[in-house]
Amino acid sequence: MPEFVGLIGYPLRHSLSPHFQQAALDYYGLDICYQAWETAPEELEIAIARLKEPQNLGANVTVPYKEAVLPLLDQVDRLANLIGAVNTIVNRNGSLWGYNTDAHGFMKALKKQGDFEAGGKRAAILGAGGAARAVGFALVKGKAASLLIANRTLKRSQALAGSLRHYISQSELETEVRVLTWPSLASSNVFYDCNLVVNCTTIGMKYGSSEGQSPLGIDVIPERILVYDLIYNPYPTPLLYLAREAGANILGGLPMLVYQGAASFELWTGEETPIDIMYNKAEEMLLGGER
Ligand code: NAP
Repeated sequence: MPEFVGLIGYPLRHSLSPHFQQAALDYYGLDICYQAWETAPEELEIAIARLKEPQNLGANVTVPYKEAVLPLLDQVDRLANLIGAVNTIVNRNGSLWGYNTDAHGFMKALKKQGDFEAGGKRAAILGAGGAARAVGFALVKGKAASLLIANRTLKRSQALAGSLRHYISQSELETEVRVLTWPSLASSNVFYDCNLVVNCTTIGMKYGSSEGQSPLGIDVIPERILVYDLIYNPYPTPLLYLAREAGANILGGLPMLVYQGAASFELWTGEETPIDIMYNKAEEMLLGGER
């Protein structure tokens, strides 16, 4: 009897996950099928309840449900609870467990592809949605010295800063967290002492409403810092293009996508992820012109 894993989100048109996850499952010859389960908002509760059926191993969760699924689960692990977002669900004998592997994927790509150690560094985050929350907690746990957070909606960046400060005060960590207003991103010295700027907004994403745009102008990007854009399509994004012109180092979102997926794969199967197989498939699908 085949078993199933799926991706729950809406809409799912351009997702790479079904392709690279299936390549990894096939590598082990597992009788498991990874499917795209496009789920309209009114179907979310039913889709999550269906995960309890024995043939379903679990799911990935993507935009816009990473936060909405939390109350529908039986258990949520500590990091996912802190972040307030779940991107991986595991069915353990009819009990649904929620995890967040975005933080792990972000950090692994930062170290491996970005050759960057967060400890003691000064970082800035653009955005305050689910991805920004995962990145914020990852950088604080990675002992960054300071974190600037700028988001179009100020209340959301203040809420993220509040959650991070609360966590820091309970964990003997020392990251200094500050909120910047969105318009202040236009002042030329805004990142003068930063080592890392991470774009966690959707600005520049292919098919998005801000396709072709950059959240930053070239004049505010210092030389030699690392600019990391979580968006993986297109590559380079408009931000990364400008950052490269400014003399900064750049990192796109594809490695993070693969590493977060690899961590999910291990949660469902207990097998070590064939990371090269996954990575090559993701790259092939992205560069193949279909996306
Ligand atoms: P989200 O929760 O919907 O947050 C979107 C963020 O973008 C918010 O901070 C929003 O600001 C901001 N934003 C959107 N349009 C804007 C505009 N025109 N001007 C200024 N700010 C704008 O989405 P998410 O889940 O955090 O995802 C964010 C991005 O990260 C997406 O592009 C996603 O594809 C990417 N991502 C990549 C990976 C990976 O593995 N590579 C993993 C997760 C996410 P407001 O709060 O003001 O609305």
